[in-house]
Amino acid sequence: ESEVPSCIARKVSQYSCQRKTTLNNYNKKFTDAFEIMAENYEFKENEIFCLEFLRAASLLKYLPFPVTRMKDIQGLPCIGDQVRDVIEQFTSVFGVGVKTSEKWYRMGLRTVEELKADKTLKLSKMQKAGFLYYEDLVSCVSKAEADAVTLIVKNTVSTFLPDALVTITGGFRRGKKMGHDIDFLITNPGPREDDELLHKGLLLYCDIIESTFVEEQLPSRKVDAMDNFQKCFTILKLYQPGIDNSSYNTSKKSDMAEIKDWKAIRVDLVITPFEQYAYALLGWTGSREFGRDLRRYASHERKMILDNHGLYDRRKRIFLKAGSEEEIFAHLGLDYVEPWERNA
Ligand code: ATP
Ligand code: MN
Ligand code: MN
Repeated sequence: ESEVPSCIARKVSQYSCQRKTTLNNYNKKFTDAFEIMAENYEFKENEIFCLEFLRAASLLKYLPFPVTRMKDIQGLPCIGDQVRDVIEQFTSVFGVGVKTSEKWYRMGLRTVEELKADKTLKLSKMQKAGFLYYEDLVSCVSKAEADAVTLIVKNTVSTFLPDALVTITGGFRRGKKMGHDIDFLITNPGPREDDELLHKGLLLYCDIIESTFVEEQLPSRKVDAMDNFQKCFTILKLYQPGIDNSSYNTSKKSDMAEIKDWKAIRVDLVITPFEQYAYALLGWTGSREFGRDLRRYASHERKMILDNHGLYDRRKRIFLKAGSEEEIFAHLGLDYVEPWERNA
């Protein structure tokens, strides 16, 4: 029998920012199920179990082989008791794994449909928009759609701020071919003038959150720090001539007026001051787990506090400036990890 797993086990760091995780996931069967379980625990506000499943999912994404036996996970970090039980169930009875994960999927979907059907539920503006464009929003965003939206956003932004920098972040910056949304970071070198950026005719739904950043404020020490940038969670109307949107066309195929030539797409726009751009870019590129572990690493291993606005050295009592992501990794004493290696 191969000794590979326990050999690499000794070298595997518990921090995903010290592991290189690409999109080659040999354990999708597990990681999909774990992420659904984590989300379940998140709803139940059980943060400990939620994190346990998320960390285990990240670790399995990193492994260069599919887990098939309990022995494969021997000695690895980030595998808690809950996770161990689930893997045992999966691996002990052949064929159970796939069926169980499919069942979880079906349970998840049913919940959404039940929610949708229940007219007595009080929904927020955001939830209503979410249900209104539900079919579009659950069908993922492709790289081609992300490229099309990038052009639109860049053009729109440049009419207001000609010098502004627009960068795609999130999963697409990490090389993903699909995403649940498209994330953009917008910054303007020079004087700050970033209001009026949001082009009304373009937006189906927009929830603007004003900046709450306070100068000199210490970085947040919470693991899952939301930042204080001005941001906008939007649903954008992407026109696609000749789009085959069968879910909308089935009822009245002959009626041309019924043909929907656009798709609703979730877009996150984040506006950041130029000096904080590198930190915002690192934070918004994700993955969520990678960012979480960067912050955990900073505080546990370096006595520093990292968030999307900056890095604070608690020993020297200073904020560390950075003009690029490379500089931030250097401040933390970490080897640079490329965006496409941050898919933890
Ligand atoms: P997907 O393809 O599913 O969109 P993603 O990695 O792009 O995957 P997002 O949820 O879009 O996932 O988040 C992208 C990054 O932005 C993550 O690293 C996340 O931590 C960060 N992020 C998302 N929402 C916020 C928020 N409200 N405040 C601060 N950071 C956020
Ligand atoms: Mn995203
Ligand atoms: Mn997003």
